[in-house]
Amino acid sequence: MRIVVKIGTSTLAHAAGRLNIRRVEGLVKVLSDLKNQGEQLILVSSGAIGMGVGKLNLPGRPADMPTKQAAAAVGQCELMYTYDKLFGEYNHTVAQLLLTGEDVRFPHRRQNFVNAMERLLELGVLPVVNENDAVATDEVGEATTIGENDTLAAIVAECVGADLLVLLSDIDGLYTADPHRSADAALIPEVGEITAELRALAGDPGSALGTGGMATKLKAADIAMACGCDMVIANGQRPELLYDIAAGLPVGTRFLGRRKGA
Ligand code: GLU
Repeated sequence: MRIVVKIGTSTLAHAAGRLNIRRVEGLVKVLSDLKNQGEQLILVSSGAIGMGVGKLNLPGRPADMPTKQAAAAVGQCELMYTYDKLFGEYNHTVAQLLLTGEDVRFPHRRQNFVNAMERLLELGVLPVVNENDAVATDEVGEATTIGENDTLAAIVAECVGADLLVLLSDIDGLYTADPHRSADAALIPEVGEITAELRALAGDPGSALGTGGMATKLKAADIAMACGCDMVIANGQRPELLYDIAAGLPVGTRFLGRRKGA
């Protein structure tokens, strides 16, 4: 199977932006094992800005664009250093691909990205993708910027024809209400179609450093489902869940990709 796994900042880093070592080590171990099992993996990793904030000892997520760019440039190095070191312990080779909206908007540039990805996968490499936040400076919603990694991960899944997209978040899945606020919020195990009611459930982002939230996850699900790729939202605090997710067992919320011809 070809699996795209997206890891959010809140999964990778502590609240102040320093690396959550135990969490990341656990994740890398499971991902390495899945690769040893024969799965093709692609990682879409956030955390550049968050880790840059930690490394530069900034008081919080930068409000101004140049500091955001600087934090991303510093943090992306830290991120890849960490992945290279940890995956290297399991004999896996990582590659860094930094994209902007332009790289996937124009067909010839998208094809170049796909060519690089396919070749990396053939070579047994684990591609690690992020938005190029040091140069992608438009505000969220502008065409030249993707803006957040839920959508980026879905675009990557679409580009490479992935079988499965997993969004690892700080929440177990999609709930019938905000579980932080409502005691009787229930997890929705499976979604075959994204209804207007479902969209109304999408709340705010949960962390101060990341930019995601349920709304962006539904946007990602729209893209994934349309190209026949299942998408699962699961809790990144428990990386071993990835074994069950890859085996098709019920974990978190699974959005069913539309079967071809259906
Ligand atoms: N590209 C951003 C980063 O690495 C993350 C975007 C997101 O949180 O979705 O910090």
